[in-house]
Amino acid sequence: MKRDAVFARDDHRCVYCGEGPPEVELTVDHVEPRRKGGDNSSGNLVTACEGCNRSKGGLPAWAWLRDRTPERTRFLARAPYVWPRLRDAVREAARLHG
Ligand SMILES: [Zn+2]
Repeated sequence: MKRDAVFARDDHRCVYCGEGPPEVELTVDHVEPRRKGGDNSSGNLVTACEGCNRSKGGLPAWAWLRDRTPERTRFLARAPYVWPRLRDAVREAARLHG
């Protein structure tokens, strides 16, 4: 999926913090990192601001979102198109962590 299409689908806002330009610069984030087997399909790509993307680093979204309730809630609400197994991983990691 092309970068501009990802941004347009997400209304030009970060799916984690909700911010958009001009406050923040947008990037494309892999929910499941490429080096962990994530691909460039529409269900694995989300719009993230530079700050959230940098903070998340090489972590899968479920690990980064585990202790970040507002960002996790926003992600689940704003990215219904993310592959179900990845959304389940996000919910499951938070549940197991308590
Ligand atoms: Zn953000």
